[in-house]
Amino acid sequence: AVAFSSGMSAMTTAILALTKSGSHVVLFNDCYRRTRQFVSKVLDRFGVASTLIPPGDLDALAKALRPETRLVVSEAPTNPYQNVVDLRRLGKLCGERNVKTLIDSTFATPVNLRPGQHGIDLVAHSGTKYLSGHNDVLAGFVAGPSHLISLLRELRDVTGAILDPHAAYLVLRGMKTLAVRVEQQNRSALALAKALEAHPRVRRVWYPGLASH
Ligand SMILES: *Cc1c(COP(=O)(O)O)cnc(C)c1O
Repeated sequence: AVAFSSGMSAMTTAILALTKSGSHVVLFNDCYRRTRQFVSKVLDRFGVASTLIPPGDLDALAKALRPETRLVVSEAPTNPYQNVVDLRRLGKLCGERNVKTLIDSTFATPVNLRPGQHGIDLVAHSGTKYLSGHNDVLAGFVAGPSHLISLLRELRDVTGAILDPHAAYLVLRGMKTLAVRVEQQNRSALALAKALEAHPRVRRVWYPGLASH
C-alpha cells in the first residue's frame, strides 16, 4: 500500500498513474462527487476520455469497454446511495481484457469488504473517515500488487501528495480500534435503518444490510 495526503489525492494519483493521453476510463456514476468531477472534467483536459455508466451495471460496462480502455473505477459500496457491484464479475470481465480495476472502498472499510480478495487490482480508502475514526486527520491509501503500487508511489513523490508524519501516526493509532468501532457502527446503522424503514413518514431507505436493498 501507499499513503497519501487525502482520499482524493489517493484516487487522483492512482487514476493519473494508470492512464495517459489517448487512454479511456470507465466510471460507475454513483460515486463521490469529486471523483466524478476529476474523471469527467479534469482528465478530459489531458486527453483521457471517460464513460460514465450506471452503478453496478456490468452489461453497460461490457459495452463501454474500448481497445484503449485502461481503467475501470467504482466505489463499493457507493457514496451516497450504497450501491454494490459484483466485484468478482467486474474483476474477471476487466482482467480478460487487460483493463485495471480501482475500487474506492472507503464506505465499507477493510472490516466489511476487501475487494483485493475478490479479483480487484487496486483498493483505495480515504483515511479521513473510518480508518482514523476521530475526525482529526486527512489521509488516503491505495493497496494492490507492488508493480502497480510502485507507479503510484513514484507519481506521488513527484506531485507531493505525501502523508504528513503526524497524520500517519494518528491513523496508526486510530486503526487499533477500527474493528470494534466498525462492528458497533454496523449494529447501530442496521438498527437505525430498520427503524427508519418501518417509519410511516419515511419513503425509502438505502442500506446494504436491509433485505430491501
Ligand atoms: C470522503 C471520500 C473520499 C475523499 O476523501 P478525503 O480524505 O476527504 O479526500 C473519497 N471517496 C469516498 C467514497 C469518500 O467517502
